[in-house]
Amino acid sequence: MISSEVRDLLIDKMSIVSQPGKKDICIVGPINLPVQLEQEVVHFHWYTWLVLEESISKAEILDSLVAYDLASLQQSSVLVYGDIKNAENALVRMHSICHTGDIFGSKRCDCGYQLTQSMKMIVENKCGAIFYIANHEGRGIGLFSKSLAYLLQQEGYDTVEANHLLGFNDDSRSYEEAIRVIQSLRSKPVTLITNNPKKLAALKEAGLTADEHIPLWGGETDFNKFYLETKVRKSGHIAEKETISTLI
Ligand SMILES: [Zn+2]
Repeated sequence: MISSEVRDLLIDKMSIVSQPGKKDICIVGPINLPVQLEQEVVHFHWYTWLVLEESISKAEILDSLVAYDLASLQQSSVLVYGDIKNAENALVRMHSICHTGDIFGSKRCDCGYQLTQSMKMIVENKCGAIFYIANHEGRGIGLFSKSLAYLLQQEGYDTVEANHLLGFNDDSRSYEEAIRVIQSLRSKPVTLITNNPKKLAALKEAGLTADEHIPLWGGETDFNKFYLETKVRKSGHIAEKETISTLI
């Protein structure tokens, strides 16, 4: 059991989001997270969340932490910058976890670049949020399957084909939890950072209040050229040239 002193310190920073027919979500934060972004240390507000299998109180959650074995499960989180509740214009990026790109700096994809770039865009905009979604590895197929898909890609298959050959749909990612979390932080519309108009449409369909999207390009290398072309050709992403012409 957690002592009442410790419980009192934590409980105000926890909130439970309930919605009929859906599992409760416990959100923790804001937590001060100073982040080195190029030459500058930027102070983000960090929030994590946990989907509750049954409706329990915040005190019961704290008392169950050890039993949950959370280290072997996946939890997502969100980095918030600025006054997310009230700012007129908030940029939101839904970033899918990429072990190879984000952590190792792999150049087989553009994820690491996109993550840092979105953080910069959000800081420049003075307000926004980056969701780091933990169960989205390899478009939702998981890290182990992604390594098998990479082997197939080395044999010449593209990303979409490789996932199909392993028995997966092209894209099995759900944004439901992240949308519920942003809804708890802000009720005004957001601008989504994405190159994929289909993603904006899908997120709006799933309940996100977004009024537009802005693109994020760059980070192309010799290794990810084919991957980026596949995104444009097969996954509905808009190409950079088109993007530039729509911005002018
Ligand atoms: Zn990646």
